[in-house]
Amino acid sequence: MADQNKGNEKVIDEKNSFMKALFFGQIREDVVFPYPKPKSETAETVAMILDTIDRFAKDRIQSREWDDAGKMPREIVSELAAMGLTGLAVPEELGGLGLPQSGYARIMQQLAATDSSVAVTLGAHQSIGYKALLLFGNEAQRAKYLPKLASGEMIAAYCLTEPSSGSDAASIQTRAVPSADGSYYTITGNKLWITNGGIANFFTVFAKSEVIEKGEKKDKVTCFIVESPAPGISVGPEEHKLGIRASWTNAVHFDQVKVPAENIIGGVGYGFKLAMGVLNHGRLGLAAGCVGGAKNAIKASVEQAQSRVQFKKKIGEFGLIKEKIARMMTQCYVAESMVYMTTSLIDRGDMDYSLESAASKIFCSEMLWETVDENLQIWAGNGYMKEYPYERWLRDARINRIFEGTNEILRAFVALSGMQGPGQELAGLAKAIQYPLQGLGLVTEYASRKVRQNIFGETITKAHPALKKLAGYLEEHTVELSQQCEVLLKRHGKEIHLKQFAQKRIADVAIDLYAMFCTLARVTQSIEEKGAEACALEIAMAESFFMKAHRRIESNFRSMDRNDDELMKMIADKTYELGGYPFDVFKA
Ligand SMILES: Cc1cc2nc3c(=O)[nH]c(=O)nc-3n(C[C@H](O)[C@H](O)[C@H](O)COP(=O)(O)OP(=O)(O)OC[C@H]3O[C@@H](n4cnc5c(N)ncnc54)[C@H](O)[C@@H]3O)c2cc1C
Repeated sequence: MADQNKGNEKVIDEKNSFMKALFFGQIREDVVFPYPKPKSETAETVAMILDTIDRFAKDRIQSREWDDAGKMPREIVSELAAMGLTGLAVPEELGGLGLPQSGYARIMQQLAATDSSVAVTLGAHQSIGYKALLLFGNEAQRAKYLPKLASGEMIAAYCLTEPSSGSDAASIQTRAVPSADGSYYTITGNKLWITNGGIANFFTVFAKSEVIEKGEKKDKVTCFIVESPAPGISVGPEEHKLGIRASWTNAVHFDQVKVPAENIIGGVGYGFKLAMGVLNHGRLGLAAGCVGGAKNAIKASVEQAQSRVQFKKKIGEFGLIKEKIARMMTQCYVAESMVYMTTSLIDRGDMDYSLESAASKIFCSEMLWETVDENLQIWAGNGYMKEYPYERWLRDARINRIFEGTNEILRAFVALSGMQGPGQELAGLAKAIQYPLQGLGLVTEYASRKVRQNIFGETITKAHPALKKLAGYLEEHTVELSQQCEVLLKRHGKEIHLKQFAQKRIADVAIDLYAMFCTLARVTQSIEEKGAEACALEIAMAESFFMKAHRRIESNFRSMDRNDDELMKMIADKTYELGGYPFDVFKA
């Protein structure tokens, strides 16, 4: 049993996180400069695959028909598998293409630009479906399943959500009961909205089982590989959905399904950590897909802006349309910068990228939503008609703010996980003040950091001189973030986890800061390579984004103390009490 629990998990240093350092007011320039570039062999493989996808799309992808029918032909998945697209990140020796995360993300970007349902199907298979096996499976498990998953002989699904357990994933009810000799487990429970549920024969299932910890019985989550078909597994009918309508979404029921103990990934009781680890990793595929979708929408908007004539002018000449195009371009550039910075953190292997991946998912999914919405607005009446694909793009984009962690949950995660380090430091300091001799080191380190930050601030030395002003915003706001967190932590202590209005402001500042750092590093690299003149557009987009982000950050900091939070809470509570909107000008 001990051996079987041994995973291939890389050792990730949790102190080694760019965003977590920002919460201490520290800028780890070495992590984000220079902006990462793909290796030439990765770029070559990716270029070949992109070409294949584009050719396949022309012949075989029927997005409109599939959307109307609410399904795509099953053989499309087999054809995509035959092109190697089901084993993108599986090591070559196990039958995959062995792409690093950056290459994987670039392919997901293209697939999403081609068809959202195809991207979701292949993403659910490899971004999350077999990711636990890929990241944490032992050698025997990987050797047994990865070749079949890479070839598409097996299609994977990730089974976490249940009818009463969505965001609160730790509350799952599915149970796994060990046999008397411990050789197998019996799994019973219902999983909901499982992407690929209707076609999968490899399920990564999270279930609770009893473990003994420090002499106490506890229910903890364990991760199982469940092969299908098997007695006791049944799959519900296709869900009818708003968007990504051609992808498979089904309930999956497990009724006393027997699973060998050797199918446990990562050890009994480690499932929750694994589930979160998979999502941290998988979110980047989703974020990259959002960039692909946004690029399509920008192209479509430009086409309409330059061809539609109203008031004897091309509509693209109007300021209100230019404002939209400029915002779409800038946001997409920033989003792309975040995605490929973060995939490079994953590819390094030793970095904690959990906050960066959450920040990228939030930013990219909201960027895509805004972009497809503005594209539809530019196409206006035509945009609303089914004859064009733009209403479908809007419907398809909506899911990204919901699955793989809702954006609300991820904002709370960014804020609380970011403040955890400073919180622990403050708690340590409080103790150190009581026992000054033992705590001297901690106090000295804290005091010297504060003195350095207060007198000299944090400095950025690696940004291009043409971007000095932009770097200045980051230096100022990073120190301010740590100061604001400290005020909040001193004010609320452990209660901070209940203060979601404040968490949202802190998360939004942290996301903006990370977005700005990624952009600064990328534009710096572009200027160094091509010269400032050739980078006029990139510099303009960076300046425009920084000005807006700077104003948002200032407003978020200002409203930490002066806000209408209590009024908002009162309005919400009253609305609950009233059961909705009670006013009507025609009634007294
Ligand atoms: C098309 C589709 C495909 C999916 N595919 C899969 C899959 O393959 N595998 C899988 O396991 N799951 C899958 N899911 C499930 C998905 O991950 C969940 O829908 C998601 O996690 C949210 O859970 P929920 O819908 O139950 O919302 P809830 O958790 O009920 O949340 C409802 C609302 O309350 C907010 N909320 C909840 N808790 C808090 C809090 N503490 N603080 C503030 N706000 C809060 C949420 O942000 C949300 O706005 C899929 C869902 C869909 C729609």
